[in-house]
Amino acid sequence: MTRPLRVLVIGAGTGGMCLAHGLRRAGIDVAVHERDRTRTSGLHGYRVGISPNGARALRACLSPELFATFVATTAAPYERLGMYTEQFRELVSIGLNEVPHAGDGPEDREYNVSRVTLRQVLFTGMEDVISFGRRFTHYEQHADRVVAHFDDGSTDEGDLLVGADGANSRVRRQYLPHATHTETGLLAIGGKTPWSAQTAALLPAGVRNGFGMYFDRRGQFGITHVMRMPWGPDGAPREGIGSSDRELVGRWPGLRFDNTTDHVSWAVTTSRSLAPADLLDRDGADLTTLAAELTADWSPCWQALLAGTEHGADVALSIRTSDPLDPWEPSTVTLLGDAAHTMTPGRGAGANTALRDARELRDRLVRVRDGGSTLVGAVGEYEDLMRRYSALAVRESLEFMNDRGTARRPVVGPLSVFAQRTSLRLVDRIPAAKRRMALGMQKVRDSELV
Ligand SMILES: Cc1cc2nc3c(=O)[nH]c(=O)nc-3n(C[C@H](O)[C@H](O)[C@H](O)COP(=O)(O)OP(=O)(O)OC[C@H]3O[C@@H](n4cnc5c(N)ncnc54)[C@H](O)[C@@H]3O)c2cc1C
Repeated sequence: MTRPLRVLVIGAGTGGMCLAHGLRRAGIDVAVHERDRTRTSGLHGYRVGISPNGARALRACLSPELFATFVATTAAPYERLGMYTEQFRELVSIGLNEVPHAGDGPEDREYNVSRVTLRQVLFTGMEDVISFGRRFTHYEQHADRVVAHFDDGSTDEGDLLVGADGANSRVRRQYLPHATHTETGLLAIGGKTPWSAQTAALLPAGVRNGFGMYFDRRGQFGITHVMRMPWGPDGAPREGIGSSDRELVGRWPGLRFDNTTDHVSWAVTTSRSLAPADLLDRDGADLTTLAAELTADWSPCWQALLAGTEHGADVALSIRTSDPLDPWEPSTVTLLGDAAHTMTPGRGAGANTALRDARELRDRLVRVRDGGSTLVGAVGEYEDLMRRYSALAVRESLEFMNDRGTARRPVVGPLSVFAQRTSLRLVDRIPAAKRRMALGMQKVRDSELV
């Protein structure tokens, strides 16, 4: 016997929208409530790496045409990952083609995604499902339904409420008030520099089509991601991207709302002990100036890259991580994505884990609809699994940041910088060690180890 279900999703971010697509395609009634006023408001400007784990979830939840549009709207794939000293001296360089793919399907690859573009892809065709300008405030749980309240006084009700409202989730605050986050003591500043021949020449040659990491002696590290979009500055699809991709990009309505053009996305991670106390209150050019001051002894090329920043997408973040949480009793409220598990960006696993959550929850809700499970039983099963794989992702993402942090410790700091640099140079000389390192870096994001 089938059971009609109505699902309320709070937050139209990566995980919430993936779930909404999956439910709607399965014929399950879903409503998404988003606090942003329009589809283009909010700051969603950085690059996200979608791993096979995330791509599999998108493939499972989006329609085949929209998944193909997602693939067609991603930036050019990377050839290389390079790690450098702050003076741009190479430590290790890994050809990404040498790393075996999980399989041959489009869902087995890594994708380079502008977060703005991904957001527009996920909004495509969902106008009747999303309500913008609805900031969730609280919910009430009754025996057979949940009522969500919004700050404009409106309400909505359904069988299940899913908190997909990000790291500062209000749903989590009400549902699991004992869930806490720990500040890692790390702060990040990021920005975008428009792509040009001059910008390209500033990057180490190995990562002009790739992903660069730069480590200094004080435990700070920088990142560059080159983003070459499949359309030009005028929004017209580029020659050479393949005729079906050109057609998909050309007829994708989301392009009207997406202003992403070719750029280098850069970020620097520092610690509270090195940064001024008001870092998080700064914005715009002020932030870039601060990033340049914090890295004043880095390569002049890095400095020139920062000087070319286009302001508007500058962002400052305090890096936090969820604390381990004991299992809770399942009910008609649940969480996914950053609302359930906030992790450091160290492993690039946050969005991919949010997407996997969406797929796992969607699969179980389809079983409820088909009469194969009770709603609370299905939620409990999803939460058991989600807690296990997300705990691994949270832990590994934190470890990556902590490893970098040893450089900041007195006495052992300089020794650890020397040891890290020596071991990376050694890895660079041994192809098998390089492959192992690349596979290790992808482990948490690519596989379904749990
Ligand atoms: C600099 C940086 C780089 C990153 N790089 C990567 C990467 O390479 N790979 C990766 O996997 N992850 C990456 N991440 C992490 C990734 O962006 C997040 O983990 C992911 O977006 C989480 O998705 P989500 O759906 O849980 O939340 P979000 O995408 O944050 O969506 C939450 C949504 O809820 C809405 N919302 C919030 N409060 C309310 C409310 N009260 N009412 C209604 N709506 C509300 C928000 O407006 C937002 O739209 C990165 C993060 C950062 C900061």
